[in-house]
Amino acid sequence: MPIATVNPANGETLKTYEAMGAEEIERRLQLAEATFRTYRTTPFAERAKLLHRAAELLDDMQQDIGRVMTTEMGKPVKQARAEAAKCAKAMRWYAEHAESLLADEEPAGADVKDSGASRAFVRYRPLGPVLAVMPWNFPLWQVVRFAAPALMAGNVGLLKHASNVPQTALFLEDLFHQAGYTEGTFQTLLIGSGAVEEILRDERVKAATLTGSEPAGRSVAATCGDMVKKTVLELGGSDPYVVMPSADIDRAAEIAVTARVQNNGQSCIAAKRFIVHADVYDAFAEKFVRGMQTLKVGDPMDEATDVGPLATEQGRADLEELVDDATRSGARVLCGGERPEGEGWYYRPTVLTDITREMRIHREEAFGPVATLYRVHDLDEAVLLANDSPFGLSSNVWTRDEAEVDRFVRDLEAGAVYVNGMTASHPAFPFGGVKRSGYGRELSGHGIREFCNITTVWHGA
Ligand code: NAP
Repeated sequence: MPIATVNPANGETLKTYEAMGAEEIERRLQLAEATFRTYRTTPFAERAKLLHRAAELLDDMQQDIGRVMTTEMGKPVKQARAEAAKCAKAMRWYAEHAESLLADEEPAGADVKDSGASRAFVRYRPLGPVLAVMPWNFPLWQVVRFAAPALMAGNVGLLKHASNVPQTALFLEDLFHQAGYTEGTFQTLLIGSGAVEEILRDERVKAATLTGSEPAGRSVAATCGDMVKKTVLELGGSDPYVVMPSADIDRAAEIAVTARVQNNGQSCIAAKRFIVHADVYDAFAEKFVRGMQTLKVGDPMDEATDVGPLATEQGRADLEELVDDATRSGARVLCGGERPEGEGWYYRPTVLTDITREMRIHREEAFGPVATLYRVHDLDEAVLLANDSPFGLSSNVWTRDEAEVDRFVRDLEAGAVYVNGMTASHPAFPFGGVKRSGYGRELSGHGIREFCNITTVWHGA
């Protein structure tokens, strides 16, 4: 894929970039290593000051970077600004909490004397340069949720961003420099995915995190496995959204629309499979479909737009194939199911029903505004269907019955269970999946500790 900004609203190539060559990559790796040697010893207060400054700058630049993101990947501009604001919030959260999250720990429940020590504790030390391979769908947020904890922990960051968001990638490097970080603390590598393996094999790179598709994750994890390097993988999702009879159906249907189409439907934690109890199925379906039909699809720069174009032409083609495969096998289209006339990579918000296990869309991730709607007859069937997916990122359940909540929390195979609401990441909560949605966690104390050397310190008597 060329490294370029191509506007998804009209297919126009606005800017192309040369990939960095071997010499420039080498220079940047040297810089990362040299910077780490000193940055790792900076006090938390100093790191926090820098990150607070980055948050302030980001708040000031919200309008501009919002437009850049919208131009590069097509998200509605109001959502792009909200993404920038969320990033500043996460930066502040880590600036404020990192020191306590990484404070020395007494070994849990241990009688230290029993180990022969006069004193023993655990210290979280940084690992070194970490390579972040990131996707285009939340081009700022995905990077910041890696960078804020990584930099607060004393690591330095190397970013390989998706090839279709180079301006956002360069903006991030610039943002950290402007905030006062020394040059090698956070660097953007303008490279294609073919250049990733060699960098992962470089001894100076200590670990990697990847957010993206399963094939990309498998490839990065395989190389890191070969090199015995730590990885965190945040991959795809096909989150269930279960609605039980006791739920507030109006609210569940209203939030279902947002949960499916946020970010033009291209979110790993979007609800994708809507599993509804037969007692409320008709009422929910009617409201949900109406909500999907009334969304304003169009120019993402327009403040009134709810759903913009898909980020890439290929992405739309993949989505169309999934829908066509389902309808060929008997799925019914309740709304949408087609692209609108005209330029740009738009796809109409779509609801499909009569889904069977043989259809690809039952197992694969629909990365766009397409929902599948299922009817179930009891709690057991709901749980079974919700878990009938290779993915396990998050889950959403709507019920006012506490016994049902307990059952979902006990049995849903996912990294999160959101009750009477939609999944949304927050700096204080761990984020990540099970099954083929990946492993490891981002955000919260769990996220910042992923790229630390968890060091036992033992003092003899
Ligand atoms: P993608 O094609 O996997 O790309 C993600 C990143 O990986 C890009 O930087 C890409 O670079 C790079 N890449 C691709 N193949 C690679 C390889 N073989 N080796 C090394 N790097 C490689 O994914 P996408 O289409 O941009 O993003 C959509 C996917 O990401 C969806 O499945 C979505 O669910 C998932 N996602 C997951 C989360 C989460 O937190 N779990 C969040 C957001 C998105 P190039 O652009 O240069 O190819």
